[in-house]
Amino acid sequence: MNFRSNVPLAPFTTFKIGGPAKLYAEVSDMSEVALGFERAAKDHLPVYVFSGGSNILFSDAGFPGLVMRILDGGFRILDGGSDSKRISAGAGRSLLEVVLSSCQAGLIGMEGLAGIPGSIGGAVRGNAGAFGTAIGDMVVSVKALDRQTGMMKEFRKEACEFGYRMSHFKRHPELVIVSVDLALRAGGDSSVLMATIRDTQARREDGHPQDVFCAGSFFMNPIVSDERLREEFRRDTGKEPKDERLPAGWIVDQAGLRGKTIGRAKVSERHPNYIVNTGGATAEEVLTLVSIVKQRVRDELDVQLYEEVQLVGFGHELVRHERGKPQEWPSFAT
Ligand SMILES: Cc1cc2nc3c(=O)[nH]c(=O)nc-3n(C[C@H](O)[C@H](O)[C@H](O)COP(=O)(O)OP(=O)(O)OC[C@H]3O[C@@H](n4cnc5c(N)ncnc54)[C@H](O)[C@@H]3O)c2cc1C
Repeated sequence: MNFRSNVPLAPFTTFKIGGPAKLYAEVSDMSEVALGFERAAKDHLPVYVFSGGSNILFSDAGFPGLVMRILDGGFRILDGGSDSKRISAGAGRSLLEVVLSSCQAGLIGMEGLAGIPGSIGGAVRGNAGAFGTAIGDMVVSVKALDRQTGMMKEFRKEACEFGYRMSHFKRHPELVIVSVDLALRAGGDSSVLMATIRDTQARREDGHPQDVFCAGSFFMNPIVSDERLREEFRRDTGKEPKDERLPAGWIVDQAGLRGKTIGRAKVSERHPNYIVNTGGATAEEVLTLVSIVKQRVRDELDVQLYEEVQLVGFGHELVRHERGKPQEWPSFAT
């Protein structure tokens, strides 16, 4: 396993923001993840594990410990009945690859997830979803390594506690997802499924900027009980709210923040729940913008926004902020 010192994290994220990891390693299976934890324990380093980097904002100072990036992972179609089949994927496998492989095999259910960036492990952890489909709907079981005990555990679907962008794994960051089993319907026509994937991707292109430096929706859709605001949403969009939540992008727009810019960080003009790095933005610029958005939305609409994007390397006692400059962590023997 190759441990490297002072590795910039920005290139591994879709935001393209973030300073260096003191120590960095790429891992592809459970034994490597376990080795990483052993190494960090020996050197008294904190550990952070991620994968696709599409839902993360690393601080400008980076992370003062070991960052492990889970890559790859196998993909297998397991036996099943004539109506349904199970698939198994390693956590680092890209979600899009899993969607494509399943559809090519005539398996139905994942088409709506085509185009969500990142890994299948990251998707399960955040119960990623789009167009009314969420990955948790298909999960049969998840294997995860408990970093506190060093033991592997298997979680059946009910134990995964899926909710809106939520799971047991998100509540328990000590768990590292290693593999995921999903149940899909069998008997689909692969050419029809591939056409649905293309439609889904086109729909995404239409509604969301897909080619910008960002981490997707920055805020979770907030629960809004204020009937006046819900009525305003109906009038403005001609749509019925799907549930107790309203889209965070609509809320941000209502507060007049579409296009609001701090430095090189900007609230997207096309999708106001995206905060975009227009080129060379720092994490500090993003967070300053985020705090303005949250405050304005709270003051004007009495709605509290919460981040969906994971903030990493902020507030740690070892993090030294020097405006916008990545820090060199003291050199470290690897
Ligand atoms: C352009 C764009 C569009 C997007 N559209 C959508 C969308 O439509 N729907 C949606 O739900 N999301 C969307 N996202 C957000 C993002 O793609 C998803 O949240 C994705 O599932 C994150 O997976 P990842 O592998 O990139 O996770 P990472 O960004 O690597 O990590 C995110 C969090 O998951 C944790 N994590 C990652 N892997 C594991 C693991 N194996 N075990 C335990 N924890 C882990 C990390 O520690 C971190 O806290 C979008 C992002 C972008 C950039």
